[in-house]
Amino acid sequence: MCCEIFHAVRRKKGRYWDVLTCFKHTLSVAEEREEQPMSDCLFCKIIAGEIPSSKVYEDELCYAFYDINPQAPTHFLVVPKAHIQSVSAVTEENAPVVGHIFAVIAKLAEELGFAGPGYRVVSNIGEAGQQSVPHLHFHVLAGRDMTWPPG
Ligand code: AMP
Ligand code: ZN
Repeated sequence: MCCEIFHAVRRKKGRYWDVLTCFKHTLSVAEEREEQPMSDCLFCKIIAGEIPSSKVYEDELCYAFYDINPQAPTHFLVVPKAHIQSVSAVTEENAPVVGHIFAVIAKLAEELGFAGPGYRVVSNIGEAGQQSVPHLHFHVLAGRDMTWPPG
């Protein structure tokens, strides 16, 4: 029964519902959390191809692209395709995509050759956190020695 519901909703909603777990208990919750593409969201537009980007990686759940204003020799962003505002909007229900993104980052770090020397993953949250685009994203910075505190 739960898989029937899952597949019906997947057909209805398309790729934004193509997640790792069954939504039996979370359909209505996810509906309310606006995890649909947002028409006025910069990163939703980039994911949809409406705004150009330099792609690093893509799968059904996430999209990675180079930052337009790089802060390190390698600087790209990894975002869920579903619109989630920030880490503050991560829940037990949508958290699987975050784990998936970290697995993707680890794989890309190996493939792009910066896993050995090390790198930094950052997510800014809200105004004090200096988040400028309200769509959850993880900055991946590599290719130089990082400093701490980050400022
Ligand atoms: P944050 O300030 O943490 O919300 O990060 C947003 C990041 O998005 C910044 O590092 C920007 O340089 C980057 N950014 C903004 N617009 C674009 C774009 N069109 N393509 C790639 N990166 C962008
Ligand atoms: Zn968005």
